[in-house]
Amino acid sequence: MPLKTGDEYVASIEALDLEANVLGEPSRGLAGHALVRPSLRAVAVTYDCAHDNEVGALFRVHSPLTGEQVNRFTHLHQSAADLVDKVLMQRHCGNRTGCCFQRCVGLDAANAVYSVTYECDRALGTGYHRRFRDYWAWVQREDLVVAGAMTDPKGDRGRRPSEQADPDLYLRVVDRQPDGVVVRGAKFHQTGMLNSHEIIVMPTLALRPGEEDWAVCFALPVDAPGVHYVLGRQASDTRKLEGDPVDVGNPTFGGQEVLTVFDDVFVPAERVFLDGEVDWSGPLVERFAAYHRQSYGGCKVGVGDVLIGATALIAEMNGVARASHVRDKLVEMIHLNETLFACGVACSARGLPTAAGNYLVDLLLANVCKLNVTRFPYEMARLATDVAGGLLGTLPAARELDDPEVGPYVRKYLAAAGGWDPLQRMKVLRLIENLVAGAGAVAYLIESMHGAGSPMAQRIMIGRQGDVAAKVELARKLLGIPPNNHS
Ligand code: SF4
Repeated sequence: MPLKTGDEYVASIEALDLEANVLGEPSRGLAGHALVRPSLRAVAVTYDCAHDNEVGALFRVHSPLTGEQVNRFTHLHQSAADLVDKVLMQRHCGNRTGCCFQRCVGLDAANAVYSVTYECDRALGTGYHRRFRDYWAWVQREDLVVAGAMTDPKGDRGRRPSEQADPDLYLRVVDRQPDGVVVRGAKFHQTGMLNSHEIIVMPTLALRPGEEDWAVCFALPVDAPGVHYVLGRQASDTRKLEGDPVDVGNPTFGGQEVLTVFDDVFVPAERVFLDGEVDWSGPLVERFAAYHRQSYGGCKVGVGDVLIGATALIAEMNGVARASHVRDKLVEMIHLNETLFACGVACSARGLPTAAGNYLVDLLLANVCKLNVTRFPYEMARLATDVAGGLLGTLPAARELDDPEVGPYVRKYLAAAGGWDPLQRMKVLRLIENLVAGAGAVAYLIESMHGAGSPMAQRIMIGRQGDVAAKVELARKLLGIPPNNHS
């Protein structure tokens, strides 16, 4: 049944009852685990929004694949307007959760695999596209969360996959059988993996002849035999175990990143979408990265809105909201945030159809978007820290307010401007702390730097797509300089 509710989604993840190592212990019941539950709630928002009276129309969309309404988080973009709506949807989810809501990776993987399998089949006569269409129609009908897995451990980054001391440092096919393949390797930083129903695995780089075993793309259920999970730590994560909704900063929501290991896992043939076609690994990586670089023009902006709001609120509580330098810092934060949004919208509005029919973002502008994302949230975090003041790093625990001896002192000396209660001031400071230095900074800062590729990857793409030669022509013609036939 398409369009699950958040509660139905949560129940479906509880029923899966995956096992993962969490803080050194094999753990089950993860859907209720204090370190995992906040991320489950964040994904649930993507479901509930489809039923929301105000924003539901943005989240519901007609699928030509199934002929039914589906959640936009499973949609194959049918127009540039669809690409823009994706960014609007992501900004809204960032506003509602103040964190990574995890569901975009599978969406971006699906749109990349859809067009690449079509072109691969057309060039080589393979049969991957029909398989993928059937698979994705099922995902849409069931309204599933699909984790997208790209980043291999990479070992010695100066060496190709086959030159590594351990060839498993890039995920690869270790056996080919009549009815499928056996894969071995790992993927780092897997966003939302423990909250997902399915995984799409893709290669991490453009592969060359001789590297066929690493050129593999496939899908699996998260509970496939041989798949192991290790939850990544986040700054201040054990505050979630203390049960205090103030000190965690974001009382309801959070993100999640997981090391995922594939220990000789069998993938049935109908779930294999690339196996050895090295020439198609590059386009797959490039398109997935471009879609996810576009995504950041929505989600990071949505979280940025929350940070700007918290910064304005703490300025009011600190009694400095009218100071001209504070107002100017807020204007600068808005300017930076809206610049990211403008990039996300621009690369979407300039999107074009692929040969398969779904739409792809403008590659140059998507990379410009992400390169700005590697910088602007850091500057916004700096400005928020500036306005919030030193209490951001030295605030006592919220439970001190209830201590019979020191509680009255803490209340007295945390007195805020405008009669604001000290507890409310604590909440705002903790939310800012969460985003600039705590668990939320994993997604808002570190992921802004490295997620969807580190800055150098965007610079390489901008160098390729920027067409400097055409710009030289412009300058040459304007100046009446003839072409140099000697070079
Ligand atoms: Fe979505 Fe942003 Fe999280 Fe990526 S980082 S999964 S785009 S919310």
